[in-house]
Amino acid sequence: MISVDEYGPEEVIELYDKDFNVRSFVVIDNTALGPGKGGIRLIGNVTVEEVARLARAMTFKNALAEIPYGGAKAGIAADPGPNKPYIIRNFARMLKGVIPTRYIPGPDMNTNEYDMAIIADELGPDAVSSKPLAMGGIPHELGVTGYGVVVATEIAAEYKKIKLKGATVAIEGFGNVGTSTMQFLAEKGAKVVAVSDSKGMVYNKDGLDLEELLKVKSEKGSVRYAKGKAMDNSLLFEQDVDILIPAARGDSINEANYKKVKAQIIVEGANIPMSESIEKEFFKKGVIVVPDIIANAGGVISSWAELVHKSEKEVFGIIENKIGKNTRLILEKSKKENKPPREVAVEIARERIKSMEKVRGIKLPNQNKG
Ligand code: NAD
Repeated sequence: MISVDEYGPEEVIELYDKDFNVRSFVVIDNTALGPGKGGIRLIGNVTVEEVARLARAMTFKNALAEIPYGGAKAGIAADPGPNKPYIIRNFARMLKGVIPTRYIPGPDMNTNEYDMAIIADELGPDAVSSKPLAMGGIPHELGVTGYGVVVATEIAAEYKKIKLKGATVAIEGFGNVGTSTMQFLAEKGAKVVAVSDSKGMVYNKDGLDLEELLKVKSEKGSVRYAKGKAMDNSLLFEQDVDILIPAARGDSINEANYKKVKAQIIVEGANIPMSESIEKEFFKKGVIVVPDIIANAGGVISSWAELVHKSEKEVFGIIENKIGKNTRLILEKSKKENKPPREVAVEIARERIKSMEKVRGIKLPNQNKG
């Protein structure tokens, strides 16, 4: 069941691709600030409930990033394979008229710049973001999301009086966000000691090497074959590290494992890697959790920058400013008001949405008076 409240969702679209027997969903959560913006997740068992939760996170994330977009998300219930390009093309064709007026897609798990190129080919270059550089795009493959995650991590580390140089880190997921986060952390001198993917995990107390991990992953299909101790990926969360960065699917930190987490800082590279109630438990224990709606906004900020024709060079500076400013704002407010960082972030997002609803006359103050 999708939860519904005064913010949305405004529209839930269910599609069926009969060529490939594939169902997909688009949830347009709230468009007060502009067309709904959010990525396409392509995973066999994706559900409409998962997509709706992700769409709501996008509503708040885009409001906090102060970009003129509402929140939306799409899920295609298929696993990556040779038919992916055709499935993406059919998905785009079925959404003609919705994209880009009410929904502007981008990449998410298992979709990338080449999938975005197919959508642009069907619906035009302004219909989609994160297109390849050759099409005038700014692909997320440049590492924009990981860059923002590291900006947020560095600020959170200050609050815990931890120096990023030499700090130990565990990263869950070795895709777009996981690899780019590792790259920018390495540039800051942090020591990534544990990395996982869907097939397993590798641990090395002396630190893992990004180039070696990329090579092993491309040759053998998993990071678990790199130099270090191979373990089950579920053990990533309990490693004795300063910083934990989930960068895979939702709810990976859950009732079964959250008590085993030893990290003092958790930066949510992934969307919704844990429930709000678990975030509250971490807050009570003094663990800083930088929520997804702040930490991983680099991707959507870059998407906006691409669609307003900023250059690839400008994008990293914009991400640093926006995520840096917001991380400080919410960590400061959280400390002052003794509330979890997500709670204060959502309060700010809600205020921005409500004031725009008033400006646009979407919900007049006396609308509900009888
Ligand atoms: P991706 O498909 O590029 O990579 C996902 C990675 O997660 C893969 O390495 C996969 O092996 C791994 N994984 C899957 N199941 C796992 C498990 N059980 N244990 C450990 N690893 C597992 O996806 P991505 O684009 O990097 O997205 C990752 C997360 O970041 C998602 O939650 C996504 O919504 C969020 N996010 C992505 C972007 C972006 O720019 N791509 C932006 C904001 C948020």
